[in-house]
Amino acid sequence: MITFAEVEHARNRFPNEKLFVCTACFQLTALVQGWARCACEPAIELNDPLAFDPTVALLCVLCARGAVREGQPFWWQGCPCCLEFNGQMEERLNRQFQMSRMSNTNYALAKHFSKSEFELKRMNKFIDRWTTEWESIFKWGRLLARELWETVPEWAEDKYIGVRAWEKKFPISKENTEQAFLRFTGWPNMALFESATAQENRRLAGVQNG
Ligand SMILES: [Zn+2]
Ligand SMILES: [Zn+2]
Repeated sequence: MITFAEVEHARNRFPNEKLFVCTACFQLTALVQGWARCACEPAIELNDPLAFDPTVALLCVLCARGAVREGQPFWWQGCPCCLEFNGQMEERLNRQFQMSRMSNTNYALAKHFSKSEFELKRMNKFIDRWTTEWESIFKWGRLLARELWETVPEWAEDKYIGVRAWEKKFPISKENTEQAFLRFTGWPNMALFESATAQENRRLAGVQNG
């Protein structure tokens, strides 16, 4: 639970901020009952099992830098750089990370409408794998956020950090996305983003082959 004194303190420390990073759970909170609640605050009861909590705003699950918040399509859980990278992964390697909240609902629906035993088995396997991966990337994002926070001694006593201040201190960039991804996967150091020229060449090759 957030106390009144904590809210006052956070607002004085970070004036003009509407959204804050909670340094206990490293999710975002608006510090009032409403559209953004962190994991330390009571969740709302959802009657529909296929629905998801619309009030949660998040730090990017891959790089922990950009905030996904009001005014953005919040079913994506990544900053623009990480989403661009994820899109390239799909095109180049036919492989994407689970960075969409919407997939949760889609898979639940698919499961709901799967008729045969075989279909259901396949779907369950898929959902299990998907959930495990989603959980591991989500955990990773929170760990990385803690690590970033610990690099700023003047924030050590703060329970809540203003999101704009956070984004200013930890800007999103392609380099940061690459770093985060390489550390998450343990892949060897390599350039992950394609240059515009490489993308264009690949597109042209595709046109010629097709
Ligand atoms: Zn929290
Ligand atoms: Zn990101």
